[in-house]
Amino acid sequence: MVNSFYYNGNEYIPRDPNAGSTGFILASLASSAIMGTLPAFARPFNKQLIKEHSQNHLYKDAFEKSLEVSGLDKKGVQIIPAQYFRDMSDVACGQNAYYTPKKKTITINTDKISIAGFHEAGHAMNDLKGKFGKILSKLRYPGYVAAGWLGFIALFSRPKPKEAPKNGMDFIKDNCGKLAFACWLPTVLEEGMASYKGVKLARKTGLAEPLIKNMKKLYAKALLTYAGRAAATGLAVGAASMIMDAFTRPKKVENEGFNLFG
Ligand SMILES: [Zn+2]
Repeated sequence: MVNSFYYNGNEYIPRDPNAGSTGFILASLASSAIMGTLPAFARPFNKQLIKEHSQNHLYKDAFEKSLEVSGLDKKGVQIIPAQYFRDMSDVACGQNAYYTPKKKTITINTDKISIAGFHEAGHAMNDLKGKFGKILSKLRYPGYVAAGWLGFIALFSRPKPKEAPKNGMDFIKDNCGKLAFACWLPTVLEEGMASYKGVKLARKTGLAEPLIKNMKKLYAKALLTYAGRAAATGLAVGAASMIMDAFTRPKKVENEGFNLFG
Protein backbone atom coordinates (compact mmCIF):
# COMPACT_ATOMS: atom_id res chain seq x y z
CA MET A 1 0.00 0.00 0.00
CA VAL A 2 1.39 3.37 -0.94
CA ASN A 3 1.07 6.23 1.54
CA SER A 4 -1.43 4.45 3.73
CA PHE A 5 -1.87 5.74 7.26
CA TYR A 6 -3.14 4.36 10.52
CA TYR A 7 -5.91 5.71 12.64
CA ASN A 8 -7.11 3.92 15.81
CA GLY A 9 -5.41 0.77 14.65
CA ASN A 10 -7.10 0.77 11.27
CA GLU A 11 -5.28 1.29 8.04
CA TYR A 12 -6.59 3.91 5.61
CA ILE A 13 -5.69 4.87 2.08
CA PRO A 14 -5.97 8.58 1.30
CA ARG A 15 -7.85 9.31 -1.91
CA ASP A 16 -6.25 10.32 -5.15
CA PRO A 17 -6.72 14.11 -5.66
CA ASN A 18 -8.07 13.31 -9.14
CA ALA A 19 -10.93 11.41 -7.54
CA GLY A 20 -11.78 14.64 -5.72
CA SER A 21 -12.00 16.54 -9.01
CA THR A 22 -14.22 13.85 -10.52
CA GLY A 23 -16.39 13.97 -7.42
CA PHE A 24 -16.61 17.75 -7.67
CA ILE A 25 -17.81 17.57 -11.28
CA LEU A 26 -20.33 14.81 -10.56
CA ALA A 27 -21.59 16.58 -7.44
CA SER A 28 -22.09 19.84 -9.37
CA LEU A 29 -23.90 18.00 -12.16
CA ALA A 30 -26.16 16.13 -9.74
CA SER A 31 -27.13 19.27 -7.86
CA SER A 32 -27.82 21.30 -10.99
CA ALA A 33 -29.95 18.43 -12.37
CA ILE A 34 -32.01 18.46 -9.17
CA MET A 35 -32.32 22.26 -9.14
CA GLY A 36 -33.44 22.01 -12.78
CA THR A 37 -36.72 20.51 -11.56
CA LEU A 38 -37.72 23.83 -9.93
CA PRO A 39 -39.71 25.29 -12.85
CA ALA A 40 -41.91 22.17 -12.69
CA PHE A 41 -42.92 23.05 -9.14
CA ALA A 42 -43.76 26.64 -10.14
CA ARG A 43 -45.70 25.76 -13.32
CA PRO A 44 -49.16 25.03 -11.82
CA PHE A 45 -49.07 28.36 -9.95
CA ASN A 46 -47.90 30.41 -12.93
CA LYS A 47 -50.55 28.83 -15.14
CA GLN A 48 -53.44 29.60 -12.82
CA LEU A 49 -52.18 33.12 -12.12
CA ILE A 50 -52.34 33.96 -15.84
CA LYS A 51 -55.87 32.50 -16.03
CA GLU A 52 -56.92 34.75 -13.16
CA HIS A 53 -56.34 37.85 -15.31
CA SER A 54 -59.71 37.30 -17.02
CA GLN A 55 -61.70 37.21 -13.78
CA ASN A 56 -59.83 39.91 -11.91
CA HIS A 57 -62.97 42.06 -11.67
CA LEU A 58 -64.47 39.50 -9.25
CA TYR A 59 -61.68 40.12 -6.74
CA LYS A 60 -60.62 43.71 -7.29
CA ASP A 61 -63.17 45.58 -5.14
CA ALA A 62 -62.80 43.15 -2.25
CA PHE A 63 -59.01 43.47 -2.36
CA GLU A 64 -59.13 47.26 -2.42
CA LYS A 65 -61.36 47.14 0.67
CA SER A 66 -59.08 44.65 2.42
CA LEU A 67 -56.59 47.14 3.89
CA GLU A 68 -59.40 48.96 5.63
CA VAL A 69 -61.12 45.74 6.76
CA SER A 70 -57.89 44.40 8.25
CA GLY A 71 -56.81 47.71 9.77
CA LEU A 72 -53.58 47.53 7.79
CA ASP A 73 -54.30 51.00 6.38
CA LYS A 74 -54.03 52.43 9.90
CA LYS A 75 -50.63 50.73 10.21
CA GLY A 76 -49.48 52.65 7.14
CA VAL A 77 -49.76 49.89 4.54
CA GLN A 78 -50.36 51.08 0.99
CA ILE A 79 -51.04 49.48 -2.38
CA ILE A 80 -48.79 50.43 -5.29
CA PRO A 81 -50.67 49.65 -8.51
CA ALA A 82 -48.07 48.13 -10.83
CA GLN A 83 -50.22 48.52 -13.96
CA TYR A 84 -48.94 52.11 -14.16
CA PHE A 85 -45.29 51.09 -14.23
CA ARG A 86 -43.60 51.92 -17.47
CA ASP A 87 -41.69 48.65 -17.66
CA MET A 88 -42.36 45.10 -18.70
CA SER A 89 -41.39 43.50 -15.39
CA ASP A 90 -43.30 40.44 -14.25
CA VAL A 91 -44.94 42.55 -11.54
CA ALA A 92 -46.14 45.16 -14.05
CA CYS A 93 -47.45 42.35 -16.29
CA GLY A 94 -49.40 40.73 -13.46
CA GLN A 95 -47.24 37.64 -13.07
CA ASN A 96 -45.99 38.45 -9.61
CA ALA A 97 -46.65 40.74 -6.64
CA TYR A 98 -44.74 41.49 -3.47
CA TYR A 99 -44.88 43.14 -0.08
CA THR A 100 -42.00 45.37 1.00
CA PRO A 101 -41.69 45.47 4.83
CA LYS A 102 -39.44 48.55 4.88
CA LYS A 103 -41.92 50.69 2.95
CA LYS A 104 -45.06 48.82 4.04
CA THR A 105 -46.19 48.64 0.44
CA ILE A 106 -47.93 45.96 -1.59
CA THR A 107 -46.81 46.23 -5.19
CA ILE A 108 -49.34 44.55 -7.44
CA ASN A 109 -51.11 44.92 -10.75
CA THR A 110 -54.67 45.32 -9.41
CA ASP A 111 -56.08 45.25 -12.94
CA LYS A 112 -54.85 41.68 -13.35
CA ILE A 113 -54.14 39.73 -10.17
CA SER A 114 -56.09 41.20 -7.26
CA ILE A 115 -56.61 37.60 -6.17
CA ALA A 116 -52.94 37.50 -5.14
CA GLY A 117 -53.29 40.71 -3.15
CA PHE A 118 -54.85 39.05 -0.12
CA HIS A 119 -51.77 36.87 0.24
CA GLU A 120 -49.55 39.97 0.14
CA ALA A 121 -51.79 41.55 2.76
CA GLY A 122 -51.15 38.36 4.75
CA HIS A 123 -47.41 39.09 4.52
CA ALA A 124 -48.11 42.59 5.82
CA MET A 125 -50.07 41.08 8.73
CA ASN A 126 -47.18 38.71 9.49
CA ASP A 127 -44.85 41.68 9.48
CA LEU A 128 -46.97 44.12 11.47
CA LYS A 129 -49.26 42.04 13.65
CA GLY A 130 -47.88 39.30 15.85
CA LYS A 131 -44.31 38.34 16.70
CA PHE A 132 -43.98 34.86 15.21
CA GLY A 133 -44.65 35.98 11.65
CA LYS A 134 -42.19 38.82 12.03
CA ILE A 135 -39.46 36.50 13.30
CA LEU A 136 -40.07 34.15 10.38
CA SER A 137 -39.92 36.95 7.83
CA LYS A 138 -36.66 38.20 9.34
CA LEU A 139 -35.20 34.69 9.02
CA ARG A 140 -35.96 34.42 5.31
CA TYR A 141 -32.97 36.22 3.87
CA PRO A 142 -30.32 34.79 6.24
CA GLY A 143 -31.84 31.39 5.42
CA TYR A 144 -31.16 31.84 1.69
CA VAL A 145 -27.61 32.95 2.37
CA ALA A 146 -26.95 30.03 4.71
CA ALA A 147 -28.44 27.53 2.23
CA GLY A 148 -26.09 28.92 -0.42
CA TRP A 149 -23.10 28.45 1.87
CA LEU A 150 -24.18 24.91 2.67
CA GLY A 151 -24.25 24.15 -1.06
CA PHE A 152 -20.67 25.39 -1.20
CA ILE A 153 -19.56 23.42 1.87
CA ALA A 154 -21.10 20.25 0.38
CA LEU A 155 -18.38 20.41 -2.28
CA PHE A 156 -15.51 20.41 0.23
CA SER A 157 -13.44 17.24 0.44
CA ARG A 158 -13.64 14.86 3.42
CA PRO A 159 -10.01 14.19 4.39
CA LYS A 160 -10.78 12.54 7.73
CA PRO A 161 -11.66 8.86 8.19
CA LYS A 162 -15.30 8.26 9.05
CA GLU A 163 -14.31 7.03 12.51
CA ALA A 164 -12.34 10.18 13.42
CA PRO A 165 -13.75 12.50 16.12
CA LYS A 166 -15.93 15.19 14.59
CA ASN A 167 -15.83 18.94 15.07
CA GLY A 168 -18.52 21.49 14.20
CA MET A 169 -17.43 21.75 10.58
CA ASP A 170 -17.58 17.95 10.19
CA PHE A 171 -21.10 18.00 11.56
CA ILE A 172 -22.07 20.65 9.01
CA LYS A 173 -20.43 18.66 6.19
CA ASP A 174 -22.21 15.47 7.26
CA ASN A 175 -25.63 17.14 7.54
CA CYS A 176 -25.50 19.93 4.97
CA GLY A 177 -28.48 18.61 2.97
CA LYS A 178 -30.78 18.51 5.98
CA LEU A 179 -29.49 21.88 7.18
CA ALA A 180 -30.05 23.49 3.76
CA PHE A 181 -33.62 22.18 3.78
CA ALA A 182 -34.10 23.59 7.30
CA CYS A 183 -32.83 27.00 6.14
CA TRP A 184 -35.80 27.17 3.76
CA LEU A 185 -38.40 26.29 6.38
CA PRO A 186 -38.95 29.83 7.77
CA THR A 187 -39.80 30.95 4.22
CA VAL A 188 -42.20 28.06 3.58
CA LEU A 189 -43.86 28.59 6.94
CA GLU A 190 -44.17 32.35 6.49
CA GLU A 191 -45.65 31.89 3.01
CA GLY A 192 -48.19 29.42 4.42
CA MET A 193 -49.11 31.83 7.19
CA ALA A 194 -49.51 34.72 4.73
CA SER A 195 -51.91 32.63 2.64
CA TYR A 196 -53.87 31.46 5.67
CA LYS A 197 -54.31 35.05 6.88
CA GLY A 198 -55.03 36.23 3.33
CA VAL A 199 -57.90 33.76 2.94
CA LYS A 200 -59.33 34.73 6.32
CA LEU A 201 -59.16 38.38 5.35
CA ALA A 202 -60.84 37.73 1.99
CA ARG A 203 -63.76 36.10 3.84
CA LYS A 204 -63.98 39.16 6.09
CA THR A 205 -64.34 41.44 3.06
CA GLY A 206 -67.40 39.40 2.08
CA LEU A 207 -65.93 37.58 -0.93
CA ALA A 208 -68.22 34.73 -2.06
CA GLU A 209 -67.28 31.19 -1.08
CA PRO A 210 -66.70 29.83 -4.64
CA LEU A 211 -64.23 32.68 -5.19
CA ILE A 212 -62.53 31.85 -1.89
CA LYS A 213 -62.27 28.23 -3.01
CA ASN A 214 -60.57 29.22 -6.24
CA MET A 215 -58.22 31.49 -4.30
CA LYS A 216 -57.28 28.63 -1.96
CA LYS A 217 -56.31 26.55 -4.99
CA LEU A 218 -54.02 29.28 -6.26
CA TYR A 219 -52.43 29.72 -2.83
CA ALA A 220 -51.85 25.98 -2.45
CA LYS A 221 -50.00 26.02 -5.78
CA ALA A 222 -47.94 28.99 -4.61
CA LEU A 223 -46.95 27.07 -1.50
CA LEU A 224 -45.97 24.08 -3.62
CA THR A 225 -43.48 26.35 -5.40
CA TYR A 226 -41.78 27.19 -2.09
CA ALA A 227 -41.99 23.68 -0.64
CA GLY A 228 -40.52 22.34 -3.89
CA ARG A 229 -37.66 24.80 -3.62
CA ALA A 230 -36.97 23.73 -0.04
CA ALA A 231 -37.04 20.04 -0.96
CA ALA A 232 -34.94 20.46 -4.12
CA THR A 233 -32.34 22.55 -2.29
CA GLY A 234 -32.06 19.97 0.49
CA LEU A 235 -31.78 17.11 -1.99
CA ALA A 236 -29.29 18.92 -4.24
CA VAL A 237 -27.01 19.82 -1.35
CA GLY A 238 -27.40 16.35 0.17
CA ALA A 239 -26.59 14.61 -3.12
CA ALA A 240 -23.51 16.78 -3.68
CA SER A 241 -22.36 16.00 -0.17
CA MET A 242 -22.84 12.24 -0.60
CA ILE A 243 -20.89 12.24 -3.84
CA MET A 244 -18.01 14.24 -2.36
CA ASP A 245 -17.97 11.86 0.58
CA ALA A 246 -17.80 8.83 -1.71
CA PHE A 247 -14.96 10.33 -3.75
CA THR A 248 -12.80 11.95 -1.09
CA ARG A 249 -13.20 10.12 2.22
CA PRO A 250 -10.12 7.96 3.02
CA LYS A 251 -10.95 4.32 2.55
CA LYS A 252 -10.51 1.84 5.37
CA VAL A 253 -8.35 -1.14 4.49
CA GLU A 254 -10.21 -4.23 5.60
CA ASN A 255 -7.48 -6.47 7.00
CA GLU A 256 -8.38 -10.08 6.71
CA GLY A 257 -6.16 -11.21 9.59
CA PHE A 258 -5.76 -9.38 12.85
CA ASN A 259 -4.25 -6.00 13.39
CA LEU A 260 -2.24 -4.62 16.22
CA PHE A 261 -5.21 -3.77 18.38
CA GLY A 262 -7.62 -6.41 17.12
ZN1 LIG B 1 -45.68 35.27 -0.54
